[in-house]
Amino acid sequence: MIDSTGLWRYDIGVCYEELEGKETVLECIVTKFGGSSLANDEQFRKVRSILELEPTRRYLVPSAPGKRFKDDEKVTDLLYRCHDLAAEEKPIGAEFAKIRDRYLAIARGLHLNLDVEKELDQVEQGIAGGQNRDWCASRGEYLCGLLMADYLGWKFLDAAKGVVFNEDGTLNDEKTQEKLSALLADGESAVVPGFYGALENGQVMTFSRGGSDITGALVARAVKADVYENWTDVSGFLMADPRIVNAPAEISSITYKELRELSHMGASVLHEDAMFPVRQAGIPTNIRNTNKPYHPGTMISRDAPQEIYVPTITGIAGHKGYSVISVEKSMMNNEVGFGRKVLQVLEDKGISFEHMPTGIDSLCVVVPTSALAPYREEILETITGLVENRGTVSVSDNLSIIATVGRGMVHNCGTAARLFSAMSRARINVRMIDQGSSELSIIVGVNDNDFEATVNAIYHEFVG
Ligand code: ASP
Repeated sequence: MIDSTGLWRYDIGVCYEELEGKETVLECIVTKFGGSSLANDEQFRKVRSILELEPTRRYLVPSAPGKRFKDDEKVTDLLYRCHDLAAEEKPIGAEFAKIRDRYLAIARGLHLNLDVEKELDQVEQGIAGGQNRDWCASRGEYLCGLLMADYLGWKFLDAAKGVVFNEDGTLNDEKTQEKLSALLADGESAVVPGFYGALENGQVMTFSRGGSDITGALVARAVKADVYENWTDVSGFLMADPRIVNAPAEISSITYKELRELSHMGASVLHEDAMFPVRQAGIPTNIRNTNKPYHPGTMISRDAPQEIYVPTITGIAGHKGYSVISVEKSMMNNEVGFGRKVLQVLEDKGISFEHMPTGIDSLCVVVPTSALAPYREEILETITGLVENRGTVSVSDNLSIIATVGRGMVHNCGTAARLFSAMSRARINVRMIDQGSSELSIIVGVNDNDFEATVNAIYHEFVG
């Protein structure tokens, strides 16, 4: 069964692939549920019914309970606050009571058998007793996982036993793959809390905020899942930021490469590091909405197979607040290593550059204004020294960078012409242009006050 458009798609556990007309049934789906999907007992019930809809959803990675309403607090934030109070040797009772109430209300609402009070007491004692920051923060997911495992009647597996960190706080990818796959080898359904793991000596460490997405991807790779489902409170990615473009279209299919470009420029739904383990293993990620379980969401895959119709552009994302360092030097083109020397000046200050368009005797380096600010004068002086009275060095600020991303660009000629005509019709001055050799994106630089107009002009040119 292939859908009428012939597109590769799957829904509620069935993958319709054009494999000699055969229908491929998915055998294993790993699900990750974000904080807003687990904010109260009603959300827990929604999660269970999503799992019941499709029995191949066999593993669950939870975040900690998030906000129930706009001004609510996330459990993780409360835990960080408790840790900070304990570090100042202040009492944590009043703050911890808020955390206690959240979990008790969920347990009561779901009629759980688990002795939640006992677990909460242990966490409170740990925080008050001076446990480190990461341990304290990780308890949000740990407790949520215990409750969820009890509610589902699934096994609970502590992520500290499967997700391995290096001393410097980075993930030990190889060891994690080895340990997690061994831990999950029996194939029994399990709940593995997100966001944390441990050093080899057992000390708990966390990822950066939003890191449960990474745990979900690691579990998906370890069990060789067919799909990694990331359940959240939106129905996937939108083609542009809805604060800039009115009601932008949804992205139904995107490749990992495209997503990397868009998330680098600010499109956020999934933690940036969550795509590496699954992308490498060729496992697609499906962003889904817990509150709209039948919406197919966004499918992220390695190469968007069997596509018949590929839209010219997949999405637009951008940022304000860049500076351009422009360097001109006569005969620059003959001077081997000049570009490297300029970049070395930035490297010495730990500044990473975004783009570097070059001319024959000139080059520009685009950097975030905030990164340049602390060393601005010093950097300009050093680069001026490299120019040796044979040119000029200047900086201009207020540059916005906008990336228009699309795997469809390779197949369509005239995309750049359309993009620049749309900008010209909107009377926007282009300050910088860059197109990667992959033909996956066109990058334009404009004045900060033209940012919103540029995103709108490009969006409406391609989407209507
Ligand atoms: N609970 C953590 C946070 O709020 C991690 C996560 O939700 O993924 O950032």
